[in-house]
Amino acid sequence: MMTMKDKIKEKALEEHIPIIMDDTLEVISNVLEENKPKRILEIGTAVGYSAICFSEYLAEGGTIDTIERDEDRIKEAKANIKSLNLEYKINIIEGDAVEILKKLQNKYDMVFIDAAKGKYPVFLKEAIRLLNDDGIIFADNILYKGYTLSGYNKHKQRTAVRGLREFLKLLKENDDFETKLIEVGDGLTISKRKPRLKA
Ligand code: SAH
Ligand code: MG
Repeated sequence: MMTMKDKIKEKALEEHIPIIMDDTLEVISNVLEENKPKRILEIGTAVGYSAICFSEYLAEGGTIDTIERDEDRIKEAKANIKSLNLEYKINIIEGDAVEILKKLQNKYDMVFIDAAKGKYPVFLKEAIRLLNDDGIIFADNILYKGYTLSGYNKHKQRTAVRGLREFLKLLKENDDFETKLIEVGDGLTISKRKPRLKA
């Protein structure tokens, strides 16, 4: 029998909504299972599928804030979240993440970056500012079907590729963070602060 969650996934795939891929979800779920985050921030809700999946791994009383700017997707995400009675765990913040992130102040245990690729450097900067000391940043679609690392890109992919390359460069140059790039789905990075050396 198909669960409500399966139905949401099926419909999103039929409508070509870029929801998280199964192997990517598995990697993230394993990390969440180990860490049991209390507060998750997601950038890019779409129809709520990934947030719904992540909500299973929250610590007792934990919540997810998830940002989306597309009105139709917000409407559908709300309906999906309601149908699973998860409104008490998942809070949609409506609007452009670039603007919304600037206003957020409370820290998160995990940030999932999964929206406009050209904005990944901006999202990263805000994610670092909003991350607890032992928090984790995940970013999806880092390899962008191989375009990120290949020499040639079509014009329409250029902004995205530039954003993704800059994102990887910023992480590489950031001595506070340790980053793993994993070849699951469309490419996933997992970044953690390095333990501070005690004097
Ligand atoms: N995380 C979802 C998939 C997100 S798809 C899942 O795995 O189920 C990316 C979403 O980000 C799209 O719905 C798009 O509308 C949204 N988005 C892209 N750029 C954005 C921005 N600057 N602010 C808010 N939402 C954005
Ligand atoms: Mg994605």
